[in-house]
Amino acid sequence: MRVLKFGGSSLASVARFSEVAQIVLQQATTEQVCLVLSAPQGVTNTLVELTDLAYLGADFQSPLSQLEQRYQQLLAEVPGVSEVRRQQVQALINSQIQQLGWQLQGMSLLKFCPDHIKAQILGLGEQFSVALMTALLEGRGADVQALDSVKLVKSQGDFLNATADVAATATVIDAAMAATPASIYVMAGFVSSNAQGETALLGRNGSDYSAAVIAAAIKASACEIWTDVDGVYSADPRQVKQTRLIDRLSYDEAMELSYFGAKVLHPKTIGPLARVQIPCYIKNTLNPSAPGTCIDVEGDGEALVKGISSLEHLALITVSGPGLKGVVGMASRVFAAMARAQISVSLITQSSSEFSISFCVPQLHLVAAKKALEAEFELELQNKLLRPLAIQSDMAIVSLVGDGMRQHRGVAAKFFASLAQARVNVVAIAQDSSERSISAVVEQRSCQNAVKVCHENFFSHIPSIDVFLVGCGVVGSELLAQIERQQAFLQQRQVKLTVYGIANSKQLLLAKDGVDLKNWQPALAEANAQFSLAELNRFVQEQHLTNPVLVDCTSAQAVADQYADFLAAGFHVVTPNKKANTSSLEYYHRLRAVAQQQRRRFLYETTVGAGLPVIDTLQGLLNAGDQLLAFEGILSGSLSYIFGELEAGVPLSVVTAKARAMGFTEPDPRDDLSGMDVARKLLIMAREAGLMLDLSEVEVDSVLPAGFAAGANVEDFMAQLPQLDQAFAERLAAAKAEGKVLRYIGEIRDGKCKVAIKALAADHPLAKVKDGENALSILSRYYQPIPFVLRGYGAGAAVTSAGVFSDILRTLSWQQQV
Ligand code: ADP
Ligand code: ASP
Ligand code: MG
Repeated sequence: MRVLKFGGSSLASVARFSEVAQIVLQQATTEQVCLVLSAPQGVTNTLVELTDLAYLGADFQSPLSQLEQRYQQLLAEVPGVSEVRRQQVQALINSQIQQLGWQLQGMSLLKFCPDHIKAQILGLGEQFSVALMTALLEGRGADVQALDSVKLVKSQGDFLNATADVAATATVIDAAMAATPASIYVMAGFVSSNAQGETALLGRNGSDYSAAVIAAAIKASACEIWTDVDGVYSADPRQVKQTRLIDRLSYDEAMELSYFGAKVLHPKTIGPLARVQIPCYIKNTLNPSAPGTCIDVEGDGEALVKGISSLEHLALITVSGPGLKGVVGMASRVFAAMARAQISVSLITQSSSEFSISFCVPQLHLVAAKKALEAEFELELQNKLLRPLAIQSDMAIVSLVGDGMRQHRGVAAKFFASLAQARVNVVAIAQDSSERSISAVVEQRSCQNAVKVCHENFFSHIPSIDVFLVGCGVVGSELLAQIERQQAFLQQRQVKLTVYGIANSKQLLLAKDGVDLKNWQPALAEANAQFSLAELNRFVQEQHLTNPVLVDCTSAQAVADQYADFLAAGFHVVTPNKKANTSSLEYYHRLRAVAQQQRRRFLYETTVGAGLPVIDTLQGLLNAGDQLLAFEGILSGSLSYIFGELEAGVPLSVVTAKARAMGFTEPDPRDDLSGMDVARKLLIMAREAGLMLDLSEVEVDSVLPAGFAAGANVEDFMAQLPQLDQAFAERLAAAKAEGKVLRYIGEIRDGKCKVAIKALAADHPLAKVKDGENALSILSRYYQPIPFVLRGYGAGAAVTSAGVFSDILRTLSWQQQV
């Protein structure tokens, strides 16, 4: 005989009842079947609500009549039921509702709800399911017999959370089945009775356990748990999108997963089945042909980690103090107190010095747990042998489960690294001695992110990058186009890069499924939010994004000033904006400290030399023990272009206008000609190399004479620029006469930074650098006397965006840099 259990989700409507009947009739053609049923979905919750309302003296009439209507509707719609059976079910409904009304009335008057009465009430839904299903199956011509689970399933202990007695159940159930032979038996889940014959429940969600107990008692060939998902998944499918269906699990793995919160199976289900090695299958009523998950002795042993589960709404209690040290029996007193108060304890850790014991209890039972412990240890607390109980509320346990973890190293390391990546603070940890599961206690609010990131790292192998771009000028727009073009490539490489937000100085566009990069301009124009950390942070929390990256493609100081806050809130920051790294030294250090502390990256490769790999190379060398001795370079693409053209005889005013028209300069060319842009780049290099200077300490020789066109707007400035042509032509001619060329050079030497126009001999390496190229010559301890030179286009939207893009991808390797 097989046991088939159908949960509330499989009995939510008459259509579902019919599908269940279909599955059962099909199976009964090959083997005898014992059906175990839950209440129709939601009915047990309504019964709980009714008892709560009555107990509080509140009005319960409306939910009571809703329950009656639900029953009536199911009965009215059920097809093919004989009139006699219909009347029988109707009589059951009438007597249930009438008696329930009386019981609730009594409770309301007495303000008292004894557990044995509550147990009778909460189990009513299962009895209704049995009556309706029996009628339905009989109507389809099946040889069906309903059996009374209250009488036949025996249990001990608490009325609401009893433990089944398989042996006692076997005796009575065998006798009942022998007395009433049938092809299909129908029994209620959840309910049982104690030795005195009083109704006792097997705990919420306990019909799975009922099925297992019945299967073990009748030595069934298999126990099938039919629900609304295709089987057990690698994580709760409601929490994580890309979960994997698990084909096979060992009993131990299933037990750990369900114990630590996988709701698909009641935690007590596996025990009775494992003892007599009955295989268990998790199947989907909505998709009966799917193979489901098979749980047996072997599992499949292949996968290292099978699943991740979480147990939420817990409190962590810590009992500590000198009185615990070396005193025999203290731990047993702690847990005996919990057992007496009927509080289940879900994770225990003890410090190795025996100075403290910590454990989790359901948040709902915290007050009772505290009371029980304070009563148990009253004397010790009074005499300060124990410290006052330490309580951490709103906690959750995240667990990693898999038999294969035993033979492999590094799983725990990856688990904790994943938690760190999700920026989850681990409050306590425990590993079962069989090394089949590792659990971490985390704050409730970080639980979902923790599960998501662990799942990503252990299962999906598709890390995600969640981009928020601020500034969509030339570089920002080009970046979006590049990301759009690269999507297919990234997907192939198993990287999920999504742009969730785009902002300019006025508007902020946020899109839950990612912005459509083909069409972002009109969407941004219509957006009515504004860029702010609070707005972005709210979005990140709501969408449970785990790898948010702020990409700043503005040149605004105001945005740069917010990086520290963004890092603190868990964003990586990627930027070509030079302002942050050239602000005060205090801010410079703070940015790095926050990034380090939050395990977030602050990446700014494109602030010097645009797409050229300058910063990363320099950092790499310095980390490896190199030391910067001197630096010389052409750091401005626009000045490189302008000085190249000057050399060809084009007047300063003409080449500047040309460069401006071609978009090579900043909107105001004075930003380039003043040398400030180069000064900032030089300062970034210097600080990188350990020279802690301020911008004011960089000596700048401007292309423009001091005070030139002061106060003029850009157009007036451009109109006045020809006044400088003559002087420049002469300066150039003088250099030429000596066989030299003029170049705008940034230099670090003897601990000082200097930006100036220099006349270079024709064979100087930088003399040939023009047309917008950059060249950086680094003389270091390792690279001397011939310096290490980097050369290439150092300006332009395409190369700069590509550099930013590559920084964005570097946020994936989240591990801390040295
Ligand atoms: P039933 O009413 O059939 O007893 P439950 O709601 O008790 O169904 O259990 C099934 C639900 O368990 C699924 O719909 C799913 O949302 C949830 N669940 C939680 N964790 C898992 C998991 N690891 N695998 C599958 N389902 C899970
Ligand atoms: N109907 C009961 C409950 O909702 C038992 C079950 O569904 O397993 O808890
Ligand atoms: Mg269930």
